[in-house]
Amino acid sequence: AAKDGGRGRHHFYSNDLLSAAEERSKLEEDLRDAVAHGGFELYYQPVVNAQDETIAGFEALLRWNHPQRGWMSPAKFIPIAEDIGLINAIGEWAIRTACDNMARWPENIRCAVNVSPLQFANPQLPAIVTNAIAHARIDPARLELEITESVFLSDDEGTDAMFASLKRVGVRLALDDFGTGYSSLGYLKKAPFDKIKIDQSFVRGATEPGSRNGALITSITSLAKSLGMDTTAEGVETMDELELVHNLGCSHVQGYIYSKPLPGDEVFDQLSNGLQLDAKGPRSARAPR
Ligand code: C2E
Ligand code: MG
Ligand code: MG
Ligand code: MG
Repeated sequence: AAKDGGRGRHHFYSNDLLSAAEERSKLEEDLRDAVAHGGFELYYQPVVNAQDETIAGFEALLRWNHPQRGWMSPAKFIPIAEDIGLINAIGEWAIRTACDNMARWPENIRCAVNVSPLQFANPQLPAIVTNAIAHARIDPARLELEITESVFLSDDEGTDAMFASLKRVGVRLALDDFGTGYSSLGYLKKAPFDKIKIDQSFVRGATEPGSRNGALITSITSLAKSLGMDTTAEGVETMDELELVHNLGCSHVQGYIYSKPLPGDEVFDQLSNGLQLDAKGPRSARAPR
């Protein structure tokens, strides 16, 4: 197509642009339909204690089974949902669904749910969380909300007030993808996080000779420890990475080394059977006694 000159080329490009815009508006329409008629599912990925390799909990990860395209990544459709004002509805559904699922799990197993900065800016969020917890009749401390550093980019007072309200509700708070954004130490000083999730970009390559990632992971874990926060190493895929993040002091590990995100029914069945995850770790991840 690059060799096409004159009118042909112009024609080619304008068609292409049109179809991108059409594709986008079709996706928006399909998203609205999925919100209205229930096209989403939550998958759950185990979060494993680094010390004894028991399951501490799961992270709920949103999946959308698109009628034509099949399973679509949240990295693709969440930004669209944010743009067109659907993220609050989708996020509320995710919080409710995760809480209802947790009610079927052993009481010592937690669940984390990702929360968009737009949800965090919604004054209704504490009420939404309170209602979901009450509906599922679970201990609020079993729910962990994961937020990214981008929540700090907006309104200071609103952000502080939201942190305080959520702590009053009694949920745990995790700082997701730590190290990929602005990572100001000021956030850690003033925000009441229970956990820092170390982004997988630090884990990836940390085992290569000369990598600085290990030194950074060590600093983050010791900082977290002195602030009384847990640390989860995200995206651990290999035995070498597992050994490394364990040695560098991460309290929890999440990644394909233990398990991919699983459908809710599969997690329930496995928890009922004492959890036999497809673990490739030194010992198998197992349900705590
Ligand atoms: P995240 O919260 O940082 O989630 C971790 C992502 O890493 C997930 O991608 C997970 O499937 C993937 N992952 C886990 N272990 C490994 C591994 O060992 N190797 C590799 N390469 N990847 C691994 P996923 O499910 O595609 O989600 C992408 C992002 O979408 C999430 O990143 C989160 O920011 C967002 N997201 C997912 N569910 C929700 C939701 O319910 N609400 C909101 N607002 N955002 C969500
Ligand atoms: Mg997350
Ligand atoms: Mg993350
Ligand atoms: Mg992420």
